[in-house]
Amino acid sequence: MLLPPLRYLRPETPEDAVAMLSDVDGSVVLAGGQTLMNMLKLDLAHPDALVDVHRIDALRGIEHDADGTLVVGAATTYAELARSPEVRRSHPAVAEMAAGLVDRQVRNRGTIGGNCCLNDPTSNYPPLMVALDARFRVLGRDGERRLPASEFFRGTLATAVGRGELLTTIEIPPMPQGSGVAHEHLQVGADSWAIARAVVRLDVADGVVADARAVLGAVYGSPLRLPEVERRLIGQRATPDLAEAADALRDVDVQTADDVHCSAAYRREMAEVQLRRAIRAAVERSVQ
Ligand SMILES: Cc1cc2nc3c(=O)[nH]c(=O)nc-3n(C[C@H](O)[C@H](O)[C@H](O)COP(=O)(O)OP(=O)(O)OC[C@H]3O[C@@H](n4cnc5c(N)ncnc54)[C@H](O)[C@@H]3O)c2cc1C
Repeated sequence: MLLPPLRYLRPETPEDAVAMLSDVDGSVVLAGGQTLMNMLKLDLAHPDALVDVHRIDALRGIEHDADGTLVVGAATTYAELARSPEVRRSHPAVAEMAAGLVDRQVRNRGTIGGNCCLNDPTSNYPPLMVALDARFRVLGRDGERRLPASEFFRGTLATAVGRGELLTTIEIPPMPQGSGVAHEHLQVGADSWAIARAVVRLDVADGVVADARAVLGAVYGSPLRLPEVERRLIGQRATPDLAEAADALRDVDVQTADDVHCSAAYRREMAEVQLRRAIRAAVERSVQ
């Protein structure tokens, strides 16, 4: 389908972008366009203007703070994350996820900020950002807000980014020595939607799990953190038997729904399988 007529705006700075988003009625951010352009063509989104932030230098780039925090511009592409030796060394799970995303075309255009701002339940990055305790910097007319991942993701296709605001930066704290992070998922086809996704991070010291994050994706709404599972992981020896902690998922009211791909019951069952696999893989990746 042809696109409807709309304005195309290209700001030079994040501040210009915020001014346009605030002043121009019906304007939305265009980042990689890998979802937004499809929504326009399918008549699922009806903005009056696109504010293209893809080429704003200040929104692109990968740096490390003095304490090892990974600081990523929101418009940084998956391809840039995948090929960064620094990211592969400091936060390998972030680079691996980018490298495994769909195909070269999507990786060359799609951005980590767009992925998080979309917050589609099936998206790759939101559960990983929760597991890594990421923080999000959001710029508006009144200045900048800094939000933890737990407050950023608000529900299906909803985040804390309000009208007239722009996600500028994602900060990911340094990984503690000995951490293992694993991401497992089941998807409909080779480059299609996920049915179930699990991310597990284990911070291991002297062979024992000192801290843990267990997060599901592709279930209803936002990434679902699982404190019941985390409690069963913390304080235990980091061995493959830890995967039994996934049993705790049976006591969690995992909200999900039947859809064209599978029943809610199948999705819950598959979420448990992915969680079990992710725990085992995180144990293998941790340094003991
Ligand atoms: C064939 C195909 C398969 C795909 N499979 C997957 C998959 O398996 N897993 C997955 O995670 N994704 C998948 N995607 C989606 C892809 O990862 C998109 O790149 C991503 O969802 C959106 O990122 P984008 O940069 O393209 O954002 P856009 O499409 O430009 O924008 C998406 C939304 O975020 C908003 N937005 C973007 N950046 C900002 C910002 N900085 N501040 C405020 N709002 C912002 C936009 O206004 C829009 O509402 C797939 C896409 C395609 C085409």
